[in-house]
Amino acid sequence: MDKPKFKRVILKLSGEALAGDKGFGIDEETVDNIAKEISKIGEMDVQVAIVVGGGNFWRGRSAQRMDRATSDYIGMLGTTINALALQDALENIGVDTRVQTAIGMQEVAEPYIRRKAIRHLQKGRVVIFAAGSGNPYFSTDTTAALRAAEIEAEVILLAKKGVDGVYDSDPKINPSAKKFESLRYIDILNRGLGIMDSTATSLCMDNSIPLIVFGIDDPENIVRVVTGEQIGTDVKG
Ligand code: UDP
Repeated sequence: MDKPKFKRVILKLSGEALAGDKGFGIDEETVDNIAKEISKIGEMDVQVAIVVGGGNFWRGRSAQRMDRATSDYIGMLGTTINALALQDALENIGVDTRVQTAIGMQEVAEPYIRRKAIRHLQKGRVVIFAAGSGNPYFSTDTTAALRAAEIEAEVILLAKKGVDGVYDSDPKINPSAKKFESLRYIDILNRGLGIMDSTATSLCMDNSIPLIVFGIDDPENIVRVVTGEQIGTDVKG
């Protein structure tokens, strides 16, 4: 087995990553495939905390007429649906998990308690953070930055669907777009690169949290990044 490069990571899975080719909702086979790779890094004794997005159901800012805060709460509830699906897939293959939500819903999951989350990780459980930060006007990328700082994760692994790193322009529009092997947070802000929102980028930058942006279309990439293979874009302070 390859040696892992990290002891504690935050894996940020966008909601889209769980939708497979359907583009909406949850594709069980896709979730199972991702769970399998997460279990592999767990077996390498890497402590894994996951922040799940919700874009496969709803994005607060896309609402037309709805009150923004209400729309964001819908988005946060969407992330919780994803968290439960991922938990189910992981538990099915024998991985111990806990879901912690930033909005109280004690019948379905634990509340977010930082010290408890760390304890779960130390016991080898995968912790899935749901309901974002619990606050409207934020994203799950910002949540990943926040939780990474709180639990002292060494790195955020930002898994993206349909793209395998950070490019100087949109590779779907510009076929000659160039992929960065490494980048600084300030470059993301200065160049307005759309890989993460500016709140998330600033939080990572201010707290010197390294980030690796990589593609999740092949879920085996999770193991590749954890073992230090250069497949995406490294972002540092
Ligand atoms: N959201 C929020 N506060 C948070 C995290 C998420 O209000 O701290 C809402 C927001 O509406 C967002 C939605 O939840 O659009 C889904 O999260 P996100 O768009 O980050 O998901 P992803 O794009 O990663 O699938």
